[in-house]
Formats: sequence, C-alpha cells, structure tokens
Amino acid sequence: MKSPAVNRIPRRGLMFVVSSPSGAGKTTLCNRLLQADPDLSLSVSATTRKPRPGETDGVDYHFIDEDKFLSMRKDGAFLESAKVFDNYYGTPKAQVEEALSSGKDVLFDIDWQGAQQLGEIARDDLVKVFILPPSRDELERRLHKRAQDSAEVVAARMAKADSEISHWAEYDYVVLNYELDESEALLQSILVAERLKRTRQIGLGAKVKAIIEGED
Ligand code: 5GP
Repeated sequence: MKSPAVNRIPRRGLMFVVSSPSGAGKTTLCNRLLQADPDLSLSVSATTRKPRPGETDGVDYHFIDEDKFLSMRKDGAFLESAKVFDNYYGTPKAQVEEALSSGKDVLFDIDWQGAQQLGEIARDDLVKVFILPPSRDELERRLHKRAQDSAEVVAARMAKADSEISHWAEYDYVVLNYELDESEALLQSILVAERLKRTRQIGLGAKVKAIIEGED
C-alpha cells in the first residue's frame, strides 16, 4: 500500500489528525499506520490521566501530574490542550516542530477540541479524519471488550459519545470503522492522496523545470 513515489519530491510535512469517540478503534488504527509507515511519527501527548495496563510513559503518553501540566500550559509548551473526561491532555510543541522540520508527517490522536485549535494555527498543513463506529451497540461492545476501564468509565464514555460524534462535519474525511484492515487501508489512501497534493510538493517546480530542460 505504501507508495515510494510519494516521497521522491521534497514536500511540506502533514499534520494528520485522527479523532473519534472513545472505543471506535482510533488508537489501534493509529498504531497500525505508524508501524506501516516510517515517514509518519506520532505526536506523543502529555496527560494527567493515569496509565492503563500496557501503556508506557513516553511512548503512549507523557504521564504528568496536574501541577506540571498547568505550568507547561502557562509556559506555552503546548500546541493545543483540552480537558477530556476530567483529565487534561496536551500536544507538546517541541516534538511536533522537530518531526516536521526533519521531513516527517505527524500523526495526532486528539479530540475535536484539539483539532479545532490546530486548525487555527496550521490550516494548510492539517488533514483531519474522523473515525466512526458502525453503530452505537458496536461502540458499547468495543468499550466493554477493552476491559481496561471500569463499568463506570465505560458508561461515562458512552454518555460522551453523542457530543463527540456531533463534531463529525468539522473533519475533512470520515471513515466508518467496520473492520480494521479495511479502515487502515482507507486511512493510508487518504495519507497518500494528501501527500500528493500539488501545493504540498514544494520541490515540484524544480522537477518540472528539469524535465522540460532535459536535465534529469
Ligand atoms: P484516552 O484517555 O482514551 O487515551 O483519550 C481520551 C481522548 O483524549 C481521546 O479522544 C484522545 O484522542 C484525546 N486526546 C489524547 N491526547 C490528546 C491531546 O493531546 N489533546 C487533545 N485535545 N485530546 C487528546
């Protein structure tokens, strides 16, 4: 699925935002995209939420306490930040700038509040995808199956799903996640098409000139 031709011409890095209601499969899909694509790097968020079993500090999140979060926010260390389910989440600025300047595309697993804030600072480089579950029942089933959160947390996440889903029309693309392989392929197609946009390929003018002049 990965197309090498996409990366032959120098281009501006993409900020690829993936949002969804909790339990729609977004984190699994993001991990698959990262594994399949060396040109994509994850923006590791900071959060005041406690780690779930299997989560690693510095890999899944930077797990920090509320004092540290608020002081980082005050110092302008976040590109965006939001409160989700009573916890703070934020995107550290430095790592995103570093990844983009080293020619990588950056993947953001963030909610609609973060997507809106990034839209205010980086509209041209932002691509926003919303993942939907096939149905409400399936969303609830997946949340229970994850079994990492208590029944109370699952109920709170279901209650919040409607308001999260209501932001679907703010996104450039919407993918219904019936099946992981299929959804992964759809997300990769979006990435490839967005990378190929003429306006992102800053090296295209020079390449076309070289072709016309027979220099290549
Ligand atoms: P979870 O606690 O399940 O990992 O994440 C809860 C929600 O917070 C998810 O929708 C996730 O995408 C979102 N989220 C994670 N990191 C960030 C972030 O840095 N900023 C924002 N705005 N949302 C985030």
